Amino acid sequence: MSEYQQYANNFPSLVAADADPDPNKCVCKGSGWVLSQLDSWYQCPCHKGMRHPEDDYDQDYSDEEVVELLLLKEIREDEALCKPEEISDYPEDSIPF
Ligand SMILES: [Zn+2]
Repeated sequence: MSEYQQYANNFPSLVAADADPDPNKCVCKGSGWVLSQLDSWYQCPCHKGMRHPEDDYDQDYSDEEVVELLLLKEIREDEALCKPEEISDYPEDSIPF
């Protein structure tokens, strides 16, 4: 068995050993997935069922997710529109930075 093969075989048990129900302490940091040094993903035993980090994000959104994304986009566009006004509030000589 090669060193890499051994590492790959051991990785799931390493993940399991470092997994913690508390996402802040867990090896997956709550994402549900851990990337091994061999560039393969393992699902965290404590946080199963999360979206895979390399999923194609353009596909299979639920309706709620789409609505949320559209709202976010709207908010970003609003913020972008606000910026020029904010800046023009300051007379040219007193820009505070
Ligand atoms: Zn976890």
